[in-house]
Amino acid sequence: MGFSDFHGNAETVHGMREMLARDRFPHAVILAGRSGSGKYTLSTMVARAMNCLEQATSNGLPDFCGRCANCVRIAQLEDLDARCAAATEAREALKETEKKETRLFIQTHPDVLVVPPDPPQMMIKVDQVRRVIDTIYFRPLEARERVFIFTDAAFMKEAANSLLKILEEPPEFATIFILAESAGELLPTIRSRSMVLQLQSLTTAEIEHYLEKHRPEWKTPQRALVARLSEGAVGRAQTFDLAAYSASREHALTILKTALKSGEHSELFKITETYRAGAEGRVKLEALLRSIYSLLQDLLFLDSGAPEFVRNTDIVSELQKLSESATFEWLTSASERLAEVERGMRRNLLRSLSLDAMEAAMEIRT
Ligand SMILES: [Zn+2]
Repeated sequence: MGFSDFHGNAETVHGMREMLARDRFPHAVILAGRSGSGKYTLSTMVARAMNCLEQATSNGLPDFCGRCANCVRIAQLEDLDARCAAATEAREALKETEKKETRLFIQTHPDVLVVPPDPPQMMIKVDQVRRVIDTIYFRPLEARERVFIFTDAAFMKEAANSLLKILEEPPEFATIFILAESAGELLPTIRSRSMVLQLQSLTTAEIEHYLEKHRPEWKTPQRALVARLSEGAVGRAQTFDLAAYSASREHALTILKTALKSGEHSELFKITETYRAGAEGRVKLEALLRSIYSLLQDLLFLDSGAPEFVRNTDIVSELQKLSESATFEWLTSASERLAEVERGMRRNLLRSLSLDAMEAAMEIRT
């Protein structure tokens, strides 16, 4: 347990720990990086390192023990999505009048406050920043440093202006993290008062290495597949649902085969049966569409003589066979026609009927 559990971006992590060691950690840090790059995990790790009661170190730099009361309570922040869902649900249960005044916060330690975007607009609102203002000037109760983590850069205008006021004069004992896909999403005045640290994407090899440790039950080709589909985001690799992906890809393959060979429709019919209308069906259908696009992409790579870009590496020989009957023209027009059907489906309610339409749209017309 410690910073060694963080994957990738070793230089950035090292730099942050150096600043901690010298007591030079900035009061406001914009942690930028794409979704799944580890921004949230890293900010909670720094919060633990700042407040670890054991003052753990490793390689001569500050770390966290993971066992003391502060480490344990801050670690409870880890599953952000589940915590946000629970907080949203709790608010839904309130009376109308209370609901309006309640904003979303996640807190498992009195001195560490997580501020997520507030539904349904999914933006950080002025009342949320006000709560930060109300507490930030009080000395920490059980920690050495008060830590505030804004998990998104989508601030409402008034909220951004309030945040700016804190950034102008932050107290000695507080650190604010703002997590952003890109620092450019934030006001220049916020950026100029913060230190911007960028988390880079990991290489496929790095993610494969991570999966070797954390998904030993997967076979090598499966780990290679997930590493490619995660596109450099270790968080995505961590939560990747391989079973669901394989199932929807199997369906996507059947649809493509039927369209290319213009033959047997009985298999397609069986699949159509499993897609129902409603919210669950929609999720499944969207996964199916993503799978079809990803297979079409791979076929295009094979067709263009660039097999090294293929992501569905575990079924490459099957794709190779398919690509023999898929010309470049077919692949590009199939994607276009699929996009058309997709737009139509978004307007249509009877989603379960549309699988046939997807296949028909891509079918080779002679
Ligand atoms: Zn500790």
